[in-house]
Amino acid sequence: MEKHIPLLSIKNITKVYTIGDNRLDILKGINLTVEEGEFVAIMGPSGSGKSTLMHILGLLDRPTDGVYEIYGENVLKFNDNQTAFLRSKIIGFVFQQYNLLNKMTAADNVALPMVYSGGKNRKEKAEKHLAEVDLSDRTEHKPTQLSGGQQQRVAIARALVNDPKIIFADEPTGNLSSKQSNEIMQILTDLNKKGISIILVTHEPDIAKWADRLIMIKDGQVLSDTIQKKKERKNTEPLKIKKESSHLSIAEFAENFFSAIRAIISNKTRSMLTMLGIIIGVASIISMLALGSGAQKALEQQITSMGTNLLYLMPGRISLGGVSGTVARRIYLKDVEALAENTELIKNIDPNVNGSVQVVYGNKNSNTSITGATPIYQYLQNSVPQYGRFFTKSENENLAKVCVIGTTVVKNLFGNENPVGKYIKINRKQFRVIGILPVKGAQGYRDGDDMVIVPINTAMKRLLGTNYVSSVAVEVQDGKMSETETYLLKTMLERNKLTPEQADAFRIRNMSDMIQMLTSTTQTMTMLLGAVAGISLIVGGIGIMNIMLVSVSERTREIGLRKAIGATKIAVLLQFLIESSVLSLLGGILGVSLGVAVSVIVSKVAGWATFISSFSVILSVGFSALVGIIFGLWPAKKASELSPIEALRHD
Ligand code: ADP
Repeated sequence: MEKHIPLLSIKNITKVYTIGDNRLDILKGINLTVEEGEFVAIMGPSGSGKSTLMHILGLLDRPTDGVYEIYGENVLKFNDNQTAFLRSKIIGFVFQQYNLLNKMTAADNVALPMVYSGGKNRKEKAEKHLAEVDLSDRTEHKPTQLSGGQQQRVAIARALVNDPKIIFADEPTGNLSSKQSNEIMQILTDLNKKGISIILVTHEPDIAKWADRLIMIKDGQVLSDTIQKKKERKNTEPLKIKKESSHLSIAEFAENFFSAIRAIISNKTRSMLTMLGIIIGVASIISMLALGSGAQKALEQQITSMGTNLLYLMPGRISLGGVSGTVARRIYLKDVEALAENTELIKNIDPNVNGSVQVVYGNKNSNTSITGATPIYQYLQNSVPQYGRFFTKSENENLAKVCVIGTTVVKNLFGNENPVGKYIKINRKQFRVIGILPVKGAQGYRDGDDMVIVPINTAMKRLLGTNYVSSVAVEVQDGKMSETETYLLKTMLERNKLTPEQADAFRIRNMSDMIQMLTSTTQTMTMLLGAVAGISLIVGGIGIMNIMLVSVSERTREIGLRKAIGATKIAVLLQFLIESSVLSLLGGILGVSLGVAVSVIVSKVAGWATFISSFSVILSVGFSALVGIIFGLWPAKKASELSPIEALRHD
């Protein structure tokens, strides 16, 4: 004959709490067997250990010692996944406090266990079970919009949704009026008639009367076990308990995702404040990097447009204290002519004089800087007029009073008038405007467009009264850079009868040196700004962790409930991880938009060049998601490791 296997059986179950040095023996060796289809009431005075026993039976708590078998399987040896499977498929739990999730509708509450069991047609099934407890017209109500009795009926529908074999009800009528209590007991009795076993904890004899079997408990021991109503014993097939670990279903992922969104939306202000750190961090990374790489790109462009094979020859710095003992020497036009003879090294040469002058047109006047140059200037300095023309060689030779002016001068003197062909006064001498220089923008601290260019001979003889030049721009033949540098210095020293030790008398500036210096400066700045922005991202991440910790402790009861209805550790972990990732990813996306907006506004308003690289977008969004995951992990892990009953008792 086949061995009879009861629905559940416990042997020598004990539960001991130690508080400080005190050992509390709550359950002192309980033995109990429940058959399929039974309706059992457990009664006893308050503090006798009824609920503790019930929680152990419902797999919400673990005994200190003893054996617990469901369908002959030693369930205390089950792992988290298997226990979650039992809570989900075999067991339904009804609590005194209902434990519904207030943010969900009745139907969603009922459907929740199916998320973890992977059931199909969740909505239809939820509605069917709500109809069974006579709540068809309340499916879209939130728990706070329902009476106590109605809430308990929703909780019963939730316990039923995965077709459990057994329902545990812990003081299910404890918070209800006697009329509502009777309704609940009638529902439980009807369920029992359909074959579901019921185990009920109560301290009220009136409630216990509904059951077929009454077990009295006192001081953690069974006092009596009596059959109140004789019932035919049904023999059912032993159940196959699924033991393999279940993987995460799409429904479960979606539910976690939407519950994360729900949690974020229902705490709008808090979520916004949490995200603010990430938003500011990401926005500053984006805009800082945009500004930095924009500045660098602009610089590179400017320099490449000027050509990198330029050298500048200037008189040496005038050393006031005479530290080096060398006196700077002037450069004259005849020096320039002599230098220019070496066409093997020098492609073009353009001597310049600089000064400042007053320019007047009509009743408008302004002070501006003046450069005297040769016609070569326009090519070396990328200054071919877009409007009008540059002066010619013969105009220079004839000391013609013509000038080319920058856009700032145009604005100051002419407003919207066309200046080409008009006469302006430079230091009280009439000059004809023949062209407008292309826009240069700000060059360091000075306005590159606030300038007037005249032929160098005109400048020296008619305006500034000098016979020497300020600097000489030299365009070097390809690949002759260092050779030319040596040549320039050597020739100038010879012409001035100076020794090589007196090289300080002249200065030679190399464009590629300047480029390197400038680029490395902007790069360092960009890195620095990026680092500061990165720190604010980390601070934002800590903000997220804080909120996640608060959120976890605030929702510990919810975690307990989710575990009680079949959520695995992984599912809980995932729920909170998704929440923090969504939070930080959303912050990241908002931050990117803000950063882009800031860069665009800055480049429009301040006229600074900005460049948003996809690298900086990916970097900052990726980083913010990472921040969310890393900083969400700890609170999420904390939440997932709680035992269901510990979590449910949390307030
Ligand atoms: P009942 O449901 O019969 O009223 P319980 O099973 O809830 O009783 O509790 C039985 C005893 O166990 C009580 O004296 C209670 O103080 C104690 N107890 C319950 N939970 C804990 C706990 N987590 N730590 C220490 N003692 C506890």
